[in-house]
Amino acid sequence: MAGPCAVETRDLLLTAAEAVAAAGACVLRGGAFKPRTSPKSFQGLGEEGLLLLEEASQRTGLPVVTEVMDPRDVELVARHAAILQVGSRNMQNFPLLREVGRQRKPVLLKRGAAATLDELLHAADYILQEGNEHVILCERGVRGFDPSTRYLLDLAAVPVLQQRTSLPVIVDPSHGTGEASLVAPMAKAALMAGADGLLIEVHAAPELALCDGKQALRPADFSQLMAELRRLVPLCGRRLARSLAVSQAPSAAEASGGGGSRRHPTGSFDDEVIAP
Ligand code: PEP
Ligand code: MN
Repeated sequence: MAGPCAVETRDLLLTAAEAVAAAGACVLRGGAFKPRTSPKSFQGLGEEGLLLLEEASQRTGLPVVTEVMDPRDVELVARHAAILQVGSRNMQNFPLLREVGRQRKPVLLKRGAAATLDELLHAADYILQEGNEHVILCERGVRGFDPSTRYLLDLAAVPVLQQRTSLPVIVDPSHGTGEASLVAPMAKAALMAGADGLLIEVHAAPELALCDGKQALRPADFSQLMAELRRLVPLCGRRLARSLAVSQAPSAAEASGGGGSRRHPTGSFDDEVIAP
């Protein structure tokens, strides 16, 4: 999954979208509603951003993952996106978790920067319990003591989560490091640790980015990383998905009560990432 941190302009988004599609990404990312530390920072284009993401999705054929922060926006975002992202700052926003759990769209749930893996799994349970079993867990780094990296990317979380759940586990080395030059090494390490996927920020012109430019890969660097991953994936006994057929989760009404079991989403990858 790759694309800019935030949707900023149509041109920048379409350039990044076409680049990540050409490099072999199977999901386009981009934020229309941005959780920013300061209310004075760029907050995202909102609904206009969703429309641009929809256009980029149509042009590239890639499904879109985008963040939703407010339970009142969930239906709006679900009309435009294939996958709903719940960001780290909202990992324990229980009304939001319940609301995305009632949607018929997969949910990408990011680990809170100070959350234990137990807390992440309980947060996932809120979604599962509403009847939506299509939950993807994302390790994106926790707060460490060393400012050398933005967060401390916890790669041991991958095998730990995989021992405790059958939900797919992906890694975000962009927020996990905060530095573009560290993204490729940690993406490869995540693959080796057993990650089922990666979430990577790619910007057409990182120096112009309104958000997270320092950690964004340029299209050419992303393309090179994909080429390297393509060589490494078979060494781990796995295959790279060519595309992601995002299936609709059952609605709360269709699901007979949910139940909170941790199950792998039904039919998702066209070409399974998971090894035989
Ligand atoms: C993002 O994916 O752009 C984002 C804000 O991530 P996180 O919630 O992990 O900080
Ligand atoms: Mn970001």
